[in-house]
Amino acid sequence: MMKISKSDYVLGIKCPNAIWFKKFRKDLQPEMNQAVLDNGTAVGELACDCFPNGIRITAKTWEYEAIEQTKKAIADNAPYIYEATLSTDTGEYCAVDILRNNNDGTWDIIEVKSTSKPHDYHYLDASFQRYVLTQCGIKIRKCFIMTLNPEYVRNGNINLDELFALHDVTDNLQDLETVQNEINRIRAILEESELGIAISKNKCSKFFDCPYKNHCWKDVPEYSVFDAFKGALADDVYSEYGANLRNVPAEVRSKQIHPGDIEAFLDNVDVINKDTLHDFTKKLHWPLYFLDYESVMSAVPMFDNSRPYQQICFQFSLHVQKHPEAELEHYEYLHNESGTDPRPGLIRKLIETIGDTGSVVVYNQGFEQGRNTEMARDFPEYTDQMLAINDRMVDLLIPFRERGLYRPCQNGSASIKQTLPAFVPEMSYANLGIHNGGEASDQFMTFMTGKQTAEQTKQMMSNLHEYCGQDTMAMVRLLDVILGITNKGETNAEY
Ligand code: SF4
Repeated sequence: MMKISKSDYVLGIKCPNAIWFKKFRKDLQPEMNQAVLDNGTAVGELACDCFPNGIRITAKTWEYEAIEQTKKAIADNAPYIYEATLSTDTGEYCAVDILRNNNDGTWDIIEVKSTSKPHDYHYLDASFQRYVLTQCGIKIRKCFIMTLNPEYVRNGNINLDELFALHDVTDNLQDLETVQNEINRIRAILEESELGIAISKNKCSKFFDCPYKNHCWKDVPEYSVFDAFKGALADDVYSEYGANLRNVPAEVRSKQIHPGDIEAFLDNVDVINKDTLHDFTKKLHWPLYFLDYESVMSAVPMFDNSRPYQQICFQFSLHVQKHPEAELEHYEYLHNESGTDPRPGLIRKLIETIGDTGSVVVYNQGFEQGRNTEMARDFPEYTDQMLAINDRMVDLLIPFRERGLYRPCQNGSASIKQTLPAFVPEMSYANLGIHNGGEASDQFMTFMTGKQTAEQTKQMMSNLHEYCGQDTMAMVRLLDVILGITNKGETNAEY
């Protein structure tokens, strides 16, 4: 008898291939993100503190002992059971984060999620839990999803009542018959010795970030119909013509996201729209300040005046060019004190170095602007200065996103990780000790929580200086490319 867990159930509903791979292709199993797991564990433990004096099931979910412990806790009429674990006679099993005793013969399921609101797949989780427990003879009165409260602002010790929000999802769940039918369907999939793979932009990327994408998408070209067309249209074009854009007829190509991208790819030519580039450069006012932040976030706010999952800036890099012929200057801030709030020091250094006039050039301004708005809110003594920085902001993403300049090797993306190698190929992130913002954030979080040796911290600090500095230098060089075209009326040496 094949066992079906809660996560098997959810995966089986999302995609037949995904559950089949999970059960039969151990070689494809993804690595778990330790930071995500740690966040989930910390939130789960705090949530239990909201329901004190319960009994914790100490055996692992998949061990028979966990079921025995749970049955005993139920028989003992425990007020709460943490990680209550049960299994049906047919092999469906689950653990419930908190099982609450209503003392009238009924129980409530409380499933803790380290998100800021319930998501669709949480309803699937809870539907499966209610099914398993009901099959085991437990009367379930209500089901709740307990999430973090995104409005909670830490002030001193964590206030558990305010940190969490309890959502009654009883009426949003699948009924028992539907769950039974889904289980039957999943079991039938698992009887198959082989499954055809049916990829889709909507299913594989939008519905969830599938861990098996490397395998299923291995024959999809680097730049394909999935990059050139929006969601459902991409799937339609794929089913008609396949993933290769060379097979898509001209009348269909006209529906692409960015007109001209596919033609640039097919003819291997660059796109230059000087009007778009001029429109952008007209917004620039010297001196230019090229600004980039690095940030960390945690489910449970670490500092006063911060909220669950708020991005906390710990580093900035600032390249300054006073006038077109001036030497570049470089300023930065990198917080170096573990466990303390990086923002006050960062704000003071930024205000000291960013001047009062001139454009603040960023790449994808939503992020930097959003962080400044939050710091203006959380530190009212600096509100005016932080908001004034936003007023001076110019987004270098725009001329690339609007295809003022585009190279086929960007594969339909205007992200700086694509535009930099396209236009400044000698600058690469490949040889750096940190390659992207996610790595910067993960490493700094390890430092903040005191889990690094002094040697590791020294190396990390050096890597962070180099990485964040590269981001602002990349903007300087990309703007040079644009100015090389708009100022001289011709392409620059490289372009
Ligand atoms: S990549 Fe797509 S087809 Fe493959 S398992 Fe994931 S969701 Fe299913």
